[in-house]
Amino acid sequence: MSGCPQNDFGARMAARVYPDLNSGCWLFFGRDVNGYARTDLNGKPMLAHRASWEWHNNRPIPPGMFVCHKCDTPVCVNPDHLFLGTPRDNVADMDRKGRRRCVALRGANSPVARLNDRAVVEILNDYAAGTSSTVIAERLGVGKATVASVLRGETWKHVEGERPRAGATSASNRNRRTGYKRRSAK
Ligand SMILES: [Zn+2]
Repeated sequence: MSGCPQNDFGARMAARVYPDLNSGCWLFFGRDVNGYARTDLNGKPMLAHRASWEWHNNRPIPPGMFVCHKCDTPVCVNPDHLFLGTPRDNVADMDRKGRRRCVALRGANSPVARLNDRAVVEILNDYAAGTSSTVIAERLGVGKATVASVLRGETWKHVEGERPRAGATSASNRNRRTGYKRRSAK
């Protein structure tokens, strides 16, 4: 074994990437799966844009999340053109734009409802912690309207969490006044 596998990956990737000066896309040679490029990262076979995201962000893609393209170019591996999205939001985004942007996860990797519950909890927690809905939307790679409707309780009502103002129930306001029971992190 020699050197750092991640540097090896960077060198290999650079050798296979063709920068498109107009779009800023980094086009990866060797498209394979539904127009997406395939490579491997530290011995793990991956689609090139997912490998690029992991390598540039120096962390694994969170379970169940998609790496989507802002540029709608499946073989692009420019980290600035990639963002994380949830499966359901990805589908909603595709519908809105009338095009496919991400590779779907299938089988055991696609527990869509549960993962989206988690994303909704994240939205509610982040918003309660003071993060703006714009930032949350960007972070999750979803539209602001998607985040807003979650916060208003119009969608994902069944997911427990603190919703701001209008969407909040009177019960939760009452609880807050009388000593809101904070759930421990356990
Ligand atoms: Zn691109």
